[in-house]
Amino acid sequence: MISYARQSIDKADIKAVLKVLKSNFLTTGPEVNKFEKKLAEYVGSKYAIAVANGTAALHLACLATGLKKNQELITSPITFVASANCALYCGTKPIFVDINHQGLIAEDKIEKKITKQTKIIIPVHYSGLPCNLEKIKKIADKYKLIIIEDASHALGAKYKNTRIGDCKYSDMAVFSFHPVKHITSGEGGMITTNNKKLYEKLIILRTHGITKEEHRFKARNLNLIGSWYYEMQELGYNYRLTDIQSALGLSQLRKIGKIIKKRRQIAKKYDNAFKKHKNIEVIYEKKGQFNSYHLYPIKVKDEKTRFKLFNYLKKKNILCQVHYIPVYWHPYYQNLGYKRGLCPKAEDFYKREISLPMYSSLRDKDIDYIIKCIKNFFNK
Ligand SMILES: *Cc1c(COP(=O)(O)O)cnc(C)c1O
Repeated sequence: MISYARQSIDKADIKAVLKVLKSNFLTTGPEVNKFEKKLAEYVGSKYAIAVANGTAALHLACLATGLKKNQELITSPITFVASANCALYCGTKPIFVDINHQGLIAEDKIEKKITKQTKIIIPVHYSGLPCNLEKIKKIADKYKLIIIEDASHALGAKYKNTRIGDCKYSDMAVFSFHPVKHITSGEGGMITTNNKKLYEKLIILRTHGITKEEHRFKARNLNLIGSWYYEMQELGYNYRLTDIQSALGLSQLRKIGKIIKKRRQIAKKYDNAFKKHKNIEVIYEKKGQFNSYHLYPIKVKDEKTRFKLFNYLKKKNILCQVHYIPVYWHPYYQNLGYKRGLCPKAEDFYKREISLPMYSSLRDKDIDYIIKCIKNFFNK
């Protein structure tokens, strides 16, 4: 079975993890710091904070901004539910803005949805394609909003020659290291930022709101207080990443250049195979976008064709996926009062989209087979 995504683990990865298992630290040791430092170096941010997963990264990023109950957070409906759930965790209302033909938040539709309660915009770099960050930042500056990039799909992507994650156009960016993503640590996530205040807040929130740093203590009298002492200063979480996971993530990060190159080669093959195909819509990069291809989405004529194509490929041992069911279509969101029809472009996108296999260990003969099967389906 060829699936739409999978991890690639090599001997170096296994060796890195075994080394940690034999060391003194299983969690919060030297590997976490090394992973953070290397990721910050790679994306070009001042700080990186490793956390348990991408969802925890989104949650903490929201908390660090001081997001409160009854405020609003703007995001896209064509994303994984976590991009909007992070608002709900904070008692905040997610507001969905419709998408453009690339599956990205339509920046020209954002302003209409801004109210006095709006606090955060979360643009999602869907499939590895960067959103129009310049325009989104202009809007955010005008209304004094915070931007948290959901870059879970976009490690290695570039926007106008800046690397996604460098936060040139945002306050924070969030990554995920789930096994389907570019690199994996089993589960894992990272927040990048250039803002020292946010960084310090995130560090404390990641571990129960506890600090062990003496210069931060609220206690006035430190007589008779020894090195056992720590203070919980706010309500945080246990969202730490382990040293075991960090060692895997770090070892994987060493291969990111090769991984992106391979993914772009696969995309080129698909592009060439389908660009003149009358039944398939390909999503191309635009000027200023460098796609890191977490996904390779195509669009077909209608919902019925997608359904048939999906099942046809499954019979041929090619297990594709669909990205995404509009977030507000899920029963939980429906119960909150979100109505179908809210974002017509997103709903149409969902009905016609199918994500083809895309991962760095995909072989040339697999790609040829996938292309052949898709062409055969339309020639039937
Ligand atoms: C994977 C993903 C997340 C969440 O990441 P986890 O590490 O699985 O918690 C968030 N947003 C998007 C768009 C994702 O694809």
